[in-house]
Amino acid sequence: MHELEVDVVVIGAGVAGLAAANVLRTEGREVVVLEARDRVGGRLWNTEIGGEANELGGEWVAPYHRRLRELLPELGIELFPAYREGDDVYVDEEGRAHRHSGDGHGLGEASEQALLEAEAKLDALAKELDPEAPWTHERARELDTMTFDEWLRREVRDAEARENLRSYLADGFLTKPAHGFSVLQGLWAIAGAGGTYELFAPEQCLAYRVVGGSQLIPIRLAERLGERVVLESPVRAIRWDRAGVEVESRLVRARARAAIVAIPPNLTTAIAFEPALPAWRLQLEQAISQGSVTKVLAVYDHPFWREDGLSGEGFAPHQLVREIYDNTPPSASVGVLCTFLPGEQADLVARLDPSARRAAILEGLAAFVGPEALRASDYIEVDWAAQEWTRGAYAATFGIGGLTRFGPYLREPVGPIHWACADIAGVGHMHMEGGVRSGEAAARGVLDA
Ligand SMILES: Cc1cc2nc3c(=O)[nH]c(=O)nc-3n(C[C@H](O)[C@H](O)[C@H](O)COP(=O)(O)OP(=O)(O)OC[C@H]3O[C@@H](n4cnc5c(N)ncnc54)[C@H](O)[C@@H]3O)c2cc1C
Repeated sequence: MHELEVDVVVIGAGVAGLAAANVLRTEGREVVVLEARDRVGGRLWNTEIGGEANELGGEWVAPYHRRLRELLPELGIELFPAYREGDDVYVDEEGRAHRHSGDGHGLGEASEQALLEAEAKLDALAKELDPEAPWTHERARELDTMTFDEWLRREVRDAEARENLRSYLADGFLTKPAHGFSVLQGLWAIAGAGGTYELFAPEQCLAYRVVGGSQLIPIRLAERLGERVVLESPVRAIRWDRAGVEVESRLVRARARAAIVAIPPNLTTAIAFEPALPAWRLQLEQAISQGSVTKVLAVYDHPFWREDGLSGEGFAPHQLVREIYDNTPPSASVGVLCTFLPGEQADLVARLDPSARRAAILEGLAAFVGPEALRASDYIEVDWAAQEWTRGAYAATFGIGGLTRFGPYLREPVGPIHWACADIAGVGHMHMEGGVRSGEAAARGVLDA
């Protein structure tokens, strides 16, 4: 066991923890970052396809990711526009594919109009929220005790518009069924991005990819910290009092004046605190849970759909495979289609044996781009719920009523213990942007204290 004496111990080497450690290092503090995995990046994880980086976790950078985009040039990291030339595809309830230009959603005129109206209602509410404290909205309790499913049934008459909107927010972001989270929780995701356009429109939320893959961001942040980042060293216990902390991990025991716990809040229960955390914090940790998602990358000899004038982007709110994206590397030496199976679809495919799962998912891709999708040369999947040090994705969210009950304490330090994570961020909530902002804010909190 290596013994260390530092100013601050950071637990978790995701973007949040590494952003926090970098602020502290710049301010001349001694830090150590203890990471459970054998790599940095947490929910950002590169793989290699066709000799180029591709992503198993988070990947797209949006225009509203302002702090992140400020940081990238400092880290020597470049972005490239995600491919979206050609037609998108909408697959309807009967499984029929409809090509359409990326301007609309591929719905009938009445449904398109209803969808826009429903988004405008959500935007009007989201505008009234402070993304840093959504629980302060004057109707917070009412909005937090109504499920998003109930709101949809009350507010959106058009069935097709309703199913699309349900799928955008529930499948596309919270990765839980719409009856499993409140309107307020959904509005927080929207307000954190700046609006439904910023959160939902592919040209916004999927605007850019990272040259070298998104894990390059935490890798470069970690390079700045050098030996201050210790891998394969899960933190199992934190002893604390007013004067500081003693953090026990597999390889290092570190004493410090403060700790920043930069892990998803639902994972904090895996750490033994001595003395125990206060009751409000223990309750909060039980009330928040990760969504679930399986990400799939299907690899082809070339991006065949492009020859057919398709963007590789499509949506199918009634099907098992509900969304597809072109994840081809910049050189296009191979073609890559990407999809996500969130929430109940993730549960469903997790129960299939691997070959049946692969067949069902490739079948789902074929519904968008044709039977050539069945002949993938490689197939890669990550069930994020099965990742011990994440246990779900994209983020942790509360059940009904939890956000108003526990939200106000989400970032409240306990003695010398501070908290950071994209899941508790305001602006950039549930995204890399939030991770960076949350980490930097926690570091400033420690410096102020
Ligand atoms: C499939 C998928 C797609 C996504 N798509 C996007 C996207 O396109 N754009 C976007 O902006 N965001 C996306 N996200 C979300 C984004 O990846 C996350 O919001 C962000 O990376 C979270 O960073 P974080 O540092 O807060 O948490 P994490 O990345 O979860 O980092 C926490 C770290 O703590 C470590 N850890 C946990 N417990 C312990 C312990 N006891 N001791 C030591 N270490 C521990 C973990 O191993 C991990 O490295 C996606 C996420 C997923 C999974």
